[in-house]
Amino acid sequence: MSDKSSAEKTEKKRRRSPISSPKLKWVSTRLLDDVFTDEVSLFKPHFDVDYEAYLQRLWESNPDIYEILKNTDDLEKARDALYTYLEKAERSVFSLDNDLHILEKSTVRECIRVFRSIIGPINEFRTEFSALDSLWKLARNKRDELDSKISVGFVMEFINLFRGVIGKSNIYLENVQIKKGIPDFLKLKGRDASTVRTEILDDLGSSVQKYFKKYPSGLEDEVVSWRLQNRKKIIRYFKGSQEDWNDYKWHLKNVVKDAQPLVDLIELTNDQREAIEKARKNKIAFGITPYYLSLMDTRLSIGYDHAVRMQVIPPKEYVDKLSEHQADRKITFDFMGEHDTSPVDLITRRYPQIAILKPFNTCAQICVYCQRNWEIERVLEPKALASQKSVDAALEWLDEHKSVGDILVTGGDPMVMKDSQLERILANLSAKNHVYRIRIGTRTPVVLPMRFTDRLMDILTRYHEPPKREIAIVTHFEHSYEITPEAMEAVQKLRKAGMSVYNQQVYTVENSRRFETVKLRRDLKSIGVDPYYTFNMKGKEETSR
Ligand code: SF4
Repeated sequence: MSDKSSAEKTEKKRRRSPISSPKLKWVSTRLLDDVFTDEVSLFKPHFDVDYEAYLQRLWESNPDIYEILKNTDDLEKARDALYTYLEKAERSVFSLDNDLHILEKSTVRECIRVFRSIIGPINEFRTEFSALDSLWKLARNKRDELDSKISVGFVMEFINLFRGVIGKSNIYLENVQIKKGIPDFLKLKGRDASTVRTEILDDLGSSVQKYFKKYPSGLEDEVVSWRLQNRKKIIRYFKGSQEDWNDYKWHLKNVVKDAQPLVDLIELTNDQREAIEKARKNKIAFGITPYYLSLMDTRLSIGYDHAVRMQVIPPKEYVDKLSEHQADRKITFDFMGEHDTSPVDLITRRYPQIAILKPFNTCAQICVYCQRNWEIERVLEPKALASQKSVDAALEWLDEHKSVGDILVTGGDPMVMKDSQLERILANLSAKNHVYRIRIGTRTPVVLPMRFTDRLMDILTRYHEPPKREIAIVTHFEHSYEITPEAMEAVQKLRKAGMSVYNQQVYTVENSRRFETVKLRRDLKSIGVDPYYTFNMKGKEETSR
C-alpha cells in the first residue's frame, strides 16, 4: 500500500468519526491539507484560511484534551486534569507495548515538556498570557470571554503540539517502513543493511524533491522570464530605461509609497489595497522598491509570491494595531527591549563582545515584521541619518568599551546611506584596534541588489583586512522566491572580494511549510550565502494568518 493511499484511508476514517459536537462539522481548506498531510500533488502554495476548520482540526487532533477542556468548569481543575493526562501520556512512552518509532517517542516527550511548560503558572505570570485560558474558553465555546483574538497561527501551533503528545506528529510518515518500530536495516548487516537503508533514503529523498517543487526560486528559467516581463512593465510605468533599472538611485527615487502603482501593475486583493491606504493615512511606514515589486506575480492565481507580498504589504490587523498605538508605539513595539539595552544613543548592547550601531533610521523598503518598526518613521525618511554629534558620541563610547570588538552596523539599512556617509563610519571603526569584525546588516542584496556598485565594493574591500578585521554582510532572504540572478550577482561580488555573506531568516507562516526553509537554505548556499540563524517571532504577529 502506498503512503498516499494510507494517508487517504486515515483521512477518510477521521472524517467518518468527527468529535461529537453540534458546532463541529467538516470544512475543507486546501491549506490545511497542504500543511498537515503528505499531499504533494499541489505544486503551489495555497492560503485559503478557514478559522473554523482549523479549530475543528485542533479538537480532532487530540480528543482527550478536548474533552478535558470542554468538560471542566474551572480553569484550575482543567490545569490539574491536563497535568494528570500528560503524566499518563509520558508513562505510556516507556511501556513495553509502545511500538512508536524511537524518534516519534522523543517527539512525544518533547511535546509533553513544552505543553507542561506552556500551561505552567510561572510561564503565564512571566508572559502575562494564559494559553490554557484561551484553549479552555475556545473549547467551552466562550469566545466572547477571550482576552485577545486567537490567531490561526496559535491554533496551528497547538494542533501540532496536541498531535505530538500522542505520537502523531506525522514527521516520520513519509515511509511506512520507518514509521513504526526499528527500521529493517538495523536488523541487517553489511551490504544487505546498506541496500535496505538506501531504498528508504531514496524514498525520503524523492519525497523531499516533490516538496521542493512547490517552492521555486527566482533562479528558475520560467520565473526569470516572467520577471523580465514585469520589469519591462515597471520601467514603462515609471518612464525609465534599462540603464535606469541598473542604477540603484533610480530605484530609490521611484520607491512605491502608495497603493496606486500596485493596483496598476499587479493584481491586489481588496484587503491588501485597503490596508495600504489605511497605512498611508495613519502615517505607518510603507514602501517597496521597483525591483522588489518585479518579484511579485502579476496575478494572484499564480501564488508563488506569498512570502514576497507578505514581506511588504501590511495586513489589516497590523495597520489597525499600529494605528491604535500611535502615541505609545515606541514602547509597545519595542519587542527587543532596546530601550533598556542602549547605554548611549545609537548603541544597543546585549553581549560581552558585540554591540549594535544604528546610524541610519530608514530603509529602501519597509518589512512588515521589522523589529524596529517602533522607531522607523517612514521609508527613505530624509532625516534618517543621525546627527554627526550623536554618531561621534556612539563611536567614542566604543573607545571606552574595548571588550566590544564585533560591531553590527544596522538601522534601518546602512547601505541606503550615501557612500561617503558609510565610508566615514567604516573608517572610524577600522581605526579602532579592538574592532575585529564589522558586520553590516542590510537587506539591499534582496531588495536593491544593484546597490553593490564598483565604488561601494572599493569602499568595503578597503576596510576588509583579514585577519586584522573583517567586513561581513548580514542580510535577510525570507524565501527562495527572493533569490534571483541579480541577488546572486551582488552576493558573488562580495564573496569574490573575500567577504562572508550571512543570512538571518525570520521564521514565519510564509516559509514554514514542510521543507520550505530547507529549500531556502539550499538555494542560499547555491548563490554563496551562509544560512546563519533563524529568528523566532517573539510575540510579533504581523505575518500571522
Ligand atoms: S530592512 Fe531591516 S530594518 Fe529595514 S524595515 Fe526591513 S527588517 Fe526593518
